[in-house]
Amino acid sequence: MISVIEARDAILNRIRPLGAERVDIASALGRVLAEDVHATRNQPPWDNSAMDGYAVRAADTVPASSDSPAELEIVEDLPAGYVAKHSVGHGQAIHIMTGAPVPDGADTIVRAERTLRVDERRVRILQPVESGTDLRRAGEDIREGDLIIPSGMLIRPAEVGLLASTNRSHVSVYRRPRVAVLSTGDEIVDVDEPLEDGKIVDSNGYALSALVADAGAIPLRLGICPDTQEALERVLRDGLVADAIITSGGVSVGEYDYVKAALEAVGTSMAFWKVSMTPGRPLAFGAIEDTIVFGLPGNPVASMVTFELFMRPALLKMQGYTSIYRPTIKARLLEDITKSLGRKQFIRVTLRKRGDIYFASRTGAQGSGILRSMSIADGLAVSHEDQEYMKAGQEIEVMLLGGYSGLFSDRNY
Ligand code: AMP
Ligand code: MG
Repeated sequence: MISVIEARDAILNRIRPLGAERVDIASALGRVLAEDVHATRNQPPWDNSAMDGYAVRAADTVPASSDSPAELEIVEDLPAGYVAKHSVGHGQAIHIMTGAPVPDGADTIVRAERTLRVDERRVRILQPVESGTDLRRAGEDIREGDLIIPSGMLIRPAEVGLLASTNRSHVSVYRRPRVAVLSTGDEIVDVDEPLEDGKIVDSNGYALSALVADAGAIPLRLGICPDTQEALERVLRDGLVADAIITSGGVSVGEYDYVKAALEAVGTSMAFWKVSMTPGRPLAFGAIEDTIVFGLPGNPVASMVTFELFMRPALLKMQGYTSIYRPTIKARLLEDITKSLGRKQFIRVTLRKRGDIYFASRTGAQGSGILRSMSIADGLAVSHEDQEYMKAGQEIEVMLLGGYSGLFSDRNY
């Protein structure tokens, strides 16, 4: 048996980011940039007004007070989106809106609240304003030539906005892996097929495809394959168009477990492991030419947990992500737990936060077929190989799963 860390490192060492493709920035969310993006111009491009008010010469406001305001002549009205036709001379003002370019001659903005409009042509300034007040300077956000987003960075909504603000409509990002998902077993039928005696519905094919999509990759359903080596080989060959293949079931050492033999027969250079973990254990990993292959166990919880631990980081690495692991938190156990010594156990837990402390309780029975436990769980608490008993109150590390309901705050800002 090998450890979880050894299996994970062996997998990740084989994986490289896929090639790049150009996408429009509206589709770039959640992708990883495969080029450095430099600004081609200043942002903002010119000094502009940060307020609705008057563009003036600061010197003209020096004597102003509310008792004896400085009265200036208004020479123009300047909405955003236009350039002033006049410049601001001594004793003059241009009525300016937020975002409009600062007119020649003016060195400051007096916001409207500090003025009193006398009539069409005249405004009174009620207090002195320093030069440079309420201006946004050219290039204060971004300077021409700046590296604004480095290659390798995840594109979030702010990056989409930044790219647009410097006129980048398309960018180069790492490709999303196409992942063929195959369920195996004579007993497995699709969701809308009649459920005869002895058959069970293919929940893995759907859950694993959803996990693939949730990891930013593209699932391709290969359907269900019976437990014969010939049939498995045929479907696996179909899967070679993908960047990765995931199978579920048939990787134990039972009499009908042909996945390993079929993978070898189609030319997979294989590592087949018993990983020292619960749930999970049997796991196959290998590569056929450029396609990597994961043989996950058939039990629904085991296949999801092994996906989380091994496949998800691999798929993120293929997409150029450098942070590839789920976040973890420390939580206090709300109950005693006994486990088998020598194996790492991933305990499905719900989390509640009281004050600044997270508390973890088991989702109930931990059998690797109990899929509802994955639905209830906020995370997987990790108990290590050398632990046998854990006491209520003890601190434990919890790897958060997606959509961690127990962690949403009831406050908003
Ligand atoms: P196996 O690894 O093939 O021995 O399967 C272990 C257990 O997982 C058995 O109880 C299977 O019926 C169940 N199982 C295998 N494949 C699936 C699947 N696609 N959906 C739901 N359960 C499955
Ligand atoms: Mg089976």
